[in-house]
Formats: sequence, structure tokens, C-alpha cells
Amino acid sequence: MTAPGPAPGGIETIGVDLGGTKMLVGVVDSGGRVLHRRVDASVGLSLDELLARIDEEIRIALDSRPGVAAVGLGVPCIVDRDREICVTSNHLPLIGVPLRSRVAALTGLPTAIDNDGNAAAIAEQRRGAARGADNVVLLTLGTGIGGGLILGGRPYRGSRGAAAELGHFVVDMDGPPCPGRCPNNGCIESLVSGTALRIEAERAIAANPGSPLASAAAAGGKIDGTVVTGLARAGDAISIQLLETMGRRLGIALTGLANVFDPDVIVIGGGVIDAGDLLLRPAREEFERRALTPQRETPIRAAELGSDAGMIGASILGLDALTEAGAVV
Ligand SMILES: [Zn+2]
Repeated sequence: MTAPGPAPGGIETIGVDLGGTKMLVGVVDSGGRVLHRRVDASVGLSLDELLARIDEEIRIALDSRPGVAAVGLGVPCIVDRDREICVTSNHLPLIGVPLRSRVAALTGLPTAIDNDGNAAAIAEQRRGAARGADNVVLLTLGTGIGGGLILGGRPYRGSRGAAAELGHFVVDMDGPPCPGRCPNNGCIESLVSGTALRIEAERAIAANPGSPLASAAAAGGKIDGTVVTGLARAGDAISIQLLETMGRRLGIALTGLANVFDPDVIVIGGGVIDAGDLLLRPAREEFERRALTPQRETPIRAAELGSDAGMIGASILGLDALTEAGAVV
């Protein structure tokens, strides 16, 4: 491999954030500027169709930015400890697929792959809310819950590549069944995610048929985190209470995580965080009541990179692959 040498705007790498419903493909330079960005669907595709679409999006990114020097892939999978093969995948038909080497062969470029939670944690640590921190706990609250750990300045992947499944931290031993392949119950994924918020909002609607939430549902609106957050901001007591309960549960989970890892900072991302302090204030209150000293002083921050975190983190994985390949000194 010949060293590409830094372009005037810095080294450019492709970041692929492969989600269960869509993929975000970007080119980001080493200064953090996003130079290319495209969204494509990933849902409902066969493996061959999915791989063809990934190839096509990478080709389009390379056409757009021919100076690209490496590729990073963030995937909704547990990736094996050698970071080659997707071992489990809830949302995409990728189990057993050597996606990294496939993309490396397609592009001829250094290529790295990692779990999407790790990619988001790497992005927030290098360029977002945890900039400069050595020890970071990150949770992304979306339809499900993703997690990432940075320990001693490096992503912590565990013995089998399966670490940082923080969504499966239990806060209620009698809680609801955890969705997906998890055999547990009372995990925060079943109590704090967007899916949990929707289920509990539906329960509140059934119990309070005259409420603003019930009116929103009757008007044909899909009841999700955005609706609940909007009503809470407008002062609706039931919606405020729903977010307060979620926030308290989140605070209990963060207490356990902080007591174990003693991080510099905890970062909360994902769509549910749009609720901001409606969620984070009760989380912080619960955390400060329960966490050990000095862990109770750990800052709890909203993520800064929003829906770009996974893509930017993947592009940084590409940058790191380039460094490891010896192409950048
Ligand atoms: Zn679980």
C-alpha cells in the first residue's frame, strides 16, 4: 500500500453507519468536516441485495471524493474479537458475513469494522461531548438501546468482541421481557428505549381517554418519543410523568454503570434524548441520590453529534485503520 499523504483539507475516509432501517454513508476529513453524505435504505433486503447496496454506496462515495484513503464500517452486530465477522445481528442478515475483508477487497483500501455503539462512543470521545476523556460510558436511546465503552482511551470490546451491551443492564428484576434475543427481563432496553416509551404511552392513553395524549392518538398521530416530548414541553402532566419515570430508571442504570466504571463522563445519545432535560434532570437526580462518592460527581451529558455519531465514528475507525496499516505516521 502506498502512503496516500494528507490532502490539503486533511485525510479523507469513508464512514458507513449501517442501521437496521437505513444506512448513512459519509466522507469525513481528519479535521471532522463532512464532505459527502448519502442515506440509503437497508430494511427488507436479502443479503445479496444489502451487500450490493453497500458496494454501490461506497462506489458513489469514492466517485465523489476520489482521494479517500480508508473505510470504516459501523454495524448493528456483535463483531468477533478479530473484528472480521458479524457474529450476531438482530436487524440485518449479516451473521457469518466477513464484511470488512469484502469491502477491503472492493476498494483496495485499509478497512475497519466495529459495532455501531462502539463507533458512536469513539465519535463522541474524539469529536463530541466526551472530547479528551479517557473513560467514557455512552448509551444511545433509540428504538432499542446501544452502548459503547471507552476505557483507558481505547474502545473496550471484551473477550469475544461482545462487550458494552449496556442496554441489558437490569434495573428491575420483575420488569418486562427484554425484546429481541435477550432472555432477561427488566433490562433498561425494555424500560427506557423509544419502544418502551411508546408502550407506556399507549397504556397511559387507555387509562386516560380524555388526555391530550389520547387526543393526539385519536387524531391519527403515531405516538412516539417526539409526540410525548412535544406534549410534555407544552405542559401535559401525563407526558411529563412518562419521561420523568424513564429518566429515573435511566438514572438507576447510570448509577450502576458509574459505580463499576468510574468514567470521566457519561454521554446519552439517540433519538429519545431529544427530550433533553425532561429526561436528563430526573436521571441526574436519581443518579446523585444513589451513586457512590466520588462517582456521583460524574457529568451526564447529551451527545453532541446527533444522528451523525455512528457515521463519524466509522470514519474515525477508517482513519485508525490507516494509522495501523502504517500509511500515516
Ligand atoms: Zn436484555
